[in-house]
Parts: sequence; C-alpha cells; structure tokens
Amino acid sequence: MKKCNECGKEMEELAAKTPEGVEYRYFKCKSCGDEVVSMKQLHSVAETYRDMEKYKVKLNKWGLSLGLRIPRELVRKYQLKNKKNITLIDEGKSIIVSP
Ligand SMILES: [Zn+2]
Repeated sequence: MKKCNECGKEMEELAAKTPEGVEYRYFKCKSCGDEVVSMKQLHSVAETYRDMEKYKVKLNKWGLSLGLRIPRELVRKYQLKNKKNITLIDEGKSIIVSP
C-alpha cells in the first residue's frame, strides 16, 4: 500500500488517459486528494509517445537541396496534397514540418 507524502493516509491506484488516449496509472490520496504519478509511469507514457511519433525517413538529393519523403500515414493524417505549401520551422535542435 502506498502512503500519501502530504498527510500519510492511504492512496489508491487509479487509471487515466492523456488527451491523446495514452493510458497511465497514478495514485490518489483517499484523504487529502493529493495525486502522484510514479517515474516508471512517466517513462512508460513518454516511451509510448516516442513510439507513436517516430518515423525514420531518408533524404534524397533534389537539385542543391534535399527532399524529405513524408510517410503515407502522415500524408493522410494531415491531409497533405502534392504541391501544397508547408512550413519548416527551425527549432534549433530539430526541424518541425508544419502543414
Ligand atoms: Zn493525503
């Protein structure tokens, strides 16, 4: 049984979902209502997000630039069309492709 760090009373384990539908479990104090998510659960949720959003693609030379091939699932999801303009945002450590 897990005890509350705030009041020392018993905590119950509950299940919840992130807005994106990823399930996780957390503890809620039956007395004061304090809520705690374990590091293990946080890592598990983070890993699920990484798996959900990871696509490895190869760049191809296109004139003096490099072309990026966008996987079909993402083309469908974001309703991308041939010749459509999209925006590349330089975030410093990564590039965001924004429809
Ligand atoms: Zn408590």
